[in-house]
Amino acid sequence: MCLFCKIAAGEIPSKKAYEDETVYAFYDIAPQAPVHILIIPKVHIESAQALSRGDDALLGHMFEVARKIAVENGLDKTGYRLITNIGADAGQSVPHLHLHLIGGKTLKWDN
Ligand code: AMP
Repeated sequence: MCLFCKIAAGEIPSKKAYEDETVYAFYDIAPQAPVHILIIPKVHIESAQALSRGDDALLGHMFEVARKIAVENGLDKTGYRLITNIGADAGQSVPHLHLHLIGGKTLKWDN
């Protein structure tokens, strides 16, 4: 099992932000902003590059969860960023699809 599969299964501890049957969200261990939450599918998908049409509902639900978490943190008013890194050049360090939900400050764009 990969790191995020273990986190979703509760085998590795995390600070939960949201959970349902298909999606788990938890606070990033190295936050890049006042709010930095990771949203993952419970099923193992390596990255967004590995998605198929059969995952459309799951992906839509991940964005729905992101909106809910944003509202809970007041970020729907101030704005926030959703990021998913894919592969080495993007710096993906955990090979399990995840959305970074980042906000709570003015974000720079400096790739
Ligand atoms: P990425 O670099 O896009 O693959 O993002 C992986 C993210 O997972 C990084 O922001 C890490 O800080 C975060 N991370 C790694 N291990 C843990 C953990 N055990 N609990 C919470 N976040 C983690």
